Amino acid sequence: MVSEFDLIRRFFTHPAPGAVLGVGDDAALMKPTPGQELVVSTDMLVAGRHFFLDADPEKLGRKALAVNLSDLAAMGAQPRWTLLALALPEPDEEWVGAFARGFMDLAAQFRVDLVGGDTTHGPLNVCVTVLGEVPDGEALRRDGAKAGDDIWISGTVGDAALALAHLRRRLALDPHDAAFCLARLDTPTPRVALGMALRGIAHAAIDVSDGLAQDLGHILERSEVGAVLEFSRLPRSAVMARLADRRLAAQCMLAGGDDYELLFTAPPGVRRLIEDLGRELGLPLTPIGRITGERGFTLRGEDGAPITLERMGFDHFR
Ligand code: ADP
Ligand code: MG
Repeated sequence: MVSEFDLIRRFFTHPAPGAVLGVGDDAALMKPTPGQELVVSTDMLVAGRHFFLDADPEKLGRKALAVNLSDLAAMGAQPRWTLLALALPEPDEEWVGAFARGFMDLAAQFRVDLVGGDTTHGPLNVCVTVLGEVPDGEALRRDGAKAGDDIWISGTVGDAALALAHLRRRLALDPHDAAFCLARLDTPTPRVALGMALRGIAHAAIDVSDGLAQDLGHILERSEVGAVLEFSRLPRSAVMARLADRRLAAQCMLAGGDDYELLFTAPPGVRRLIEDLGRELGLPLTPIGRITGERGFTLRGEDGAPITLERMGFDHFR
């Protein structure tokens, strides 16, 4: 049977050109760039809760890093280093090899060095830490939204939630639509370039991992402001636009998680800049509402009248 050390040597020991010392010692050594702040985040993925036990290991490896890079993107940070803590029920080389391939492929794509971690026996659990850098004082925080700001979102919302609904047999997508939504769920793209480009432009940002309404709520709370959101403006994929079950569509767009798009606020004066940026990045950026001075959250329906979230099936929304 392979040992923990064999696994580390075979699958998790890679050159780390951006570090002073990577995997193999008691700890890693990194030299931060002068004039930059370190941005650090950790996300844990628990089997049975965040992913299915029989999940494709390569996609899981990729996603474990992707969701962490998404947090750095939401801060406007340049990703630099990562650490990977893994609990494995058994040292299945094939599984670990595929997981490492997915993880390292995405790491290479974003030029992130794996500099350390931990490998232990236990119920399947994946914990990733990422470190990035942002110029002093330029991080995109949740507490910077100002009354009068436009609220923007990248990409489309709710597609990953549609995939989950499909997997749970709450709806039956045709194979082509299912493949599109499953890709959104399994292989999210962290919006790193967008986050970095929004430095000095956006007032506040968050990545949409727990659902648009809830994540916007975090910005409102931290910034002590309110918001009006236009339901009809929410950017939807072709699959979402075609969905006959409008209630499910609204639920997925407003409360579905796992989108990993960036939600940000910016003053009206930079609209043109943001539109240009979207074109440059080949990523739709859509204004979906406005920040208000009064606290509270209003969702306006197609007819302009406020709609209550309860009516759309949100019992737990505050
Ligand atoms: P220690 O017992 O001192 O914590 P370990 O035997 O756990 O050391 O780890 C040896 C080296 O391998 C360390 O540099 C550690 O950071 C690295 N490492 C262990 N597991 C992983 C992993 N899953 N991914 C990346 N590096 C790892
Ligand atoms: Mg250790």
